[in-house]
Amino acid sequence: MSSLRVLPLGPPGAGKGTQSRRIAEAYDINHISTGDMLRANKDMETDHGTPGEYMDAGELVPDPVMKAVVEEALSDLDGYVLDGYPRTLEQAEHLESVTDLDAIIYLTVDREELIRRLSGRRVDPETGQNYHVEFDMPDDPAVRERLVQRTDDEPDRVETRLEEYATKTRPVIEHYTDHEAFVEIDGNQSPDEVWEDIDAVLRDVGE
Ligand code: ADP
Ligand code: ADP
Repeated sequence: MSSLRVLPLGPPGAGKGTQSRRIAEAYDINHISTGDMLRANKDMETDHGTPGEYMDAGELVPDPVMKAVVEEALSDLDGYVLDGYPRTLEQAEHLESVTDLDAIIYLTVDREELIRRLSGRRVDPETGQNYHVEFDMPDDPAVRERLVQRTDDEPDRVETRLEEYATKTRPVIEHYTDHEAFVEIDGNQSPDEVWEDIDAVLRDVGE
């Protein structure tokens, strides 16, 4: 287990989940996905209602809920790739108060491509693995058979999520651009090409 701390940033559909899995495996660190954690606790009662109420509408879950979720997940962890947090300036300030980061990787992807990726995304409910109807279908027919579309990947929710990103998460990117660990990577490339760029950055950090 390494102690590398990696933060992927980028809009919904940028490839954060796809690349985070590869980073976690290659660098032997934990993959913390706030989206996955929330989906596993959609009906959890909080002072602000349940996470599912926000997620199904394509809206962000309120900051106090997210801070508690992330603080709990990061406690006692050495290295990790933190996928899905922070998504607001308040969350970014919170993260800074609890941890340092070795690499902040911003994946840029054109809007049209994001919509294509999100609308074609399918999930294996048994493993949580993401696939894509055009770019990445599983070989196993049993897995193909059981793939589902996330409620928030339906067109009107995709629109809401991209708006939430533009208004609430864009400022987080601006906030990190001057950080010494910040790098921007062209996320429009194929998954393997994006991975090569990320791997090159992380190998440097590790040295
Ligand atoms: P995010 O976690 O940033 O929302 P995902 O990793 O879930 O993004 O990717 C969104 C969708 O796009 C998935 O269906 C995934 O299979 C597909 N995808 C991811 N990276 C690429 C890529 N570089 N090129 C084409 N499709 C991709
Ligand atoms: P995507 O892969 O498309 O970027 P995620 O799986 O990361 O989406 O997140 C799904 C949903 O979970 C978000 O639309 C939002 O409702 C909620 N969520 C995840 N992370 C956060 C966060 N840091 N702050 C607020 N809401 C979040």
